[in-house]
Amino acid sequence: MASKGRIKEMSVKNFLFLIKKLNRQGGFKQIKILGGEPTLHSKFGKMMNILFKYVPQASLFTNGLFNDRVSLIIKKHVPKLQLIINIMTPAYQFNTILRQKIAARIREFSPFTITALSVIVNPETDTKTILKTVEADTLKYVQSIRIGVSNPIMGEKNTYAFRNFPHIGKKVLELISGFKKIKQNLIFKMDCGFTRCMFTDGQYKILQESGIYYLWGCFQGNLIGCLDVQSDMKAITCYSLSEAKKEDLLKENIPTVEKRLFLQQYLYQEQHLMESCKDCKYRKGKEKCKGPCIGFKMNAFSYANRGRSNKISDSSAL
Ligand code: SF4
Ligand code: SF4
Repeated sequence: MASKGRIKEMSVKNFLFLIKKLNRQGGFKQIKILGGEPTLHSKFGKMMNILFKYVPQASLFTNGLFNDRVSLIIKKHVPKLQLIINIMTPAYQFNTILRQKIAARIREFSPFTITALSVIVNPETDTKTILKTVEADTLKYVQSIRIGVSNPIMGEKNTYAFRNFPHIGKKVLELISGFKKIKQNLIFKMDCGFTRCMFTDGQYKILQESGIYYLWGCFQGNLIGCLDVQSDMKAITCYSLSEAKKEDLLKENIPTVEKRLFLQQYLYQEQHLMESCKDCKYRKGKEKCKGPCIGFKMNAFSYANRGRSNKISDSSAL
């Protein structure tokens, strides 16, 4: 609901306009409520009332640190409203008292709605600390864990290099095996931006055997019908491309916006190929890896072009 820039909150009027427009023109399958921290919106209750007049189900991405007033609002809408709790916050990772409060919210809502945890990894992620903070008592109440990779914003600097991709795969496997030791029947979902070359064949086999949902690289082929709407009513395809191209949903209809954003993303994808991807068996084979997150790739490309090369080489990826 919040976007980088001046408008801190989406207005109730625009929210209603958007939801009605989505209903008329969108044919959406899923609604995700994101922030910042969406429960801090001054009209959170009113917006949830509007939302569930028009949609059957939505996911709320939250840090789990909401107060009792917000808790009552959420209770009014479960099980239609599902919770995804981000445990990568300093509050959860480093503050025992706040972590206990978040764990209490997980226990509170778990009997009434689907409750999942969200974890983001990069090559430096301290998986031991993450696993240490999530206690068995909390995990007992959680159905699934979403694992994301830290995708950069296009136009900013990449924080890790292509050569470090295998470290990311290692972190993912450490988390999966660590979480499974605590609770065997957890469901894992991997977000966009993971690539096949982040994983060795052995690690890949474990992912397959664990029935983990993944799609390599950018989810481009599935992006039609997937829009992020910022608080200023500008639509983007995803956070990573949030500074690249925006379309104004107050002025344009949804199918037009989707087509324009998809086309732009398709062009980014097709016109720039990292050197390592060119002859990669995983790009052409049945695994259909689409290459790294477009934000990562385009940052690497612009870095390469600051020198003489017009190629995106492995070493230019940082
Ligand atoms: S560019 Fe693709 S991989 Fe990167 S965040 Fe967007 S959808 Fe995900
Ligand atoms: S296509 Fe590129 S990103 Fe994907 S596995 Fe091959 S080298 Fe890695």
